[in-house]
Amino acid sequence: MTTTTTSTDTLPDDFGHAFIRGVHEHLGGAADPLGDLDRRAGDGDFGTNVRTALKHAAENIETDKPSTYRQWGTTMYMGWLAVGGTSGPLFGMFFRDLAKAADDDGEPTLAQFAEALAAGQATIQKYGEAKVGDKTMVDALDPAVTALHTAVEAGTPPGEALATAEKAAVEAAQATAETTARRGRASYVGDVAKGVIDPGAAAMALVIGAARAAVDGAEVDAAWIG
Ligand code: ADP
Ligand code: MG
Repeated sequence: MTTTTTSTDTLPDDFGHAFIRGVHEHLGGAADPLGDLDRRAGDGDFGTNVRTALKHAAENIETDKPSTYRQWGTTMYMGWLAVGGTSGPLFGMFFRDLAKAADDDGEPTLAQFAEALAAGQATIQKYGEAKVGDKTMVDALDPAVTALHTAVEAGTPPGEALATAEKAAVEAAQATAETTARRGRASYVGDVAKGVIDPGAAAMALVIGAARAAVDGAEVDAAWIG
C-alpha cells in the first residue's frame, strides 16, 4: 500500500506523548465497563488485563522517561506484552507496529501512522487468525485502517482524517453486538454473546479515538461502552 505524503499531514510535536497519555486515560477510564462486557460475553478477565497492561506501561514510563513518539509507543507495547490472555500479545504486537511508524528522532507523519496502523492489523490477523466479522478487535480496526488510508490519499488534514477513522471504528465496534464470536474465549459462549459489544473492539475504537484526540484535543466519547 503506498501513501502520499503531503505538507499538510504533519502530526503535532507532542503526538506520541498525547496519544499514549490518551490511551491511559480512555482505556483506564473504561476498564470497568470493558471488563463487564467480557464477563457477559467471554471469561471476564479483559478489564484486569487492561489495568495490568496500563500499570506496566506506567512503570515503563517511570523507569525510563520517554521523549520521542517511538519511545512513548514502546512503553505501551511492553506494557501489553507483560499481560496474559489473548489480548496481551495481540495489543502488544499492535503497539509495537505503531511505535515503528517513526524513527527515534521525531513524530510520524499521518501517512506513516496510517501505514503503521495497517501493519498492526496485519500482525494481529497473522497471529490471531481472526477475520473481519469474527467479533474481535479486528472488526473495529479494519474499517479504521481503510478510512484512514482513504483520507490520507485524499490529502485530508490529520484531525479530520483520524476522526473518520475513529467514527468507522466506533460504529464497527458497536455493530459487533449483532455478531457471534468465532475467536478467543468469547467463542466458547456462542450466542450468549449476542447483544454484547466485543470488549476488544471497543478498546480498539478508544485507542483510535486517543490518536484523534492527540491531534484535535476534543473529548473521546466512551459512554456507548456502558
Ligand atoms: P481472552 O479471549 O483470552 O479472554 P482477553 O479477555 O484478554 O482474551 O481479550 C478479549 C478480546 O481479545 C476480545 O474481545 C477480542 O476482541 C480479542 N481477541 C480474542 N481472540 C482474538 C483473536 N484470535 N484475534 C483478534 N482478537 C482477538
Ligand atoms: Mg477474556
